[in-house]
Amino acid sequence: QQLQAIECPYDPSHFVSESRMQYHLAQCKKKNPKKAKEMASCKYNARHVVPRETLQKHEATCQDKIGRQDASKLIFMNFNWNGPQAAQMQTFFTKVKVSHR
Ligand SMILES: [Zn+2]
Ligand SMILES: [Zn+2]
Repeated sequence: QQLQAIECPYDPSHFVSESRMQYHLAQCKKKNPKKAKEMASCKYNARHVVPRETLQKHEATCQDKIGRQDASKLIFMNFNWNGPQAAQMQTFFTKVKVSHR
């Protein structure tokens, strides 16, 4: 597995490994309150911190959303909860939720 250094969204001179990013972000946010106000974190992955005005665009195309949430969300939205398969579907969703942990 390759270690990837990611540029810190609060300070471009910081490069942090992906595994430490979440911790670093919390620390760096406190040190840069001004910058933090301009940034917003992605609701699909707390490590994604982007400028506030681009958040909507980011969340629309976020890889984590595509990978995890959308599949079940799409099924959910298109499913007829009053139909004959409703009970089976509820069981399915219980399983999906567990497997995400
Ligand atoms: Zn930083
Ligand atoms: Zn994201």
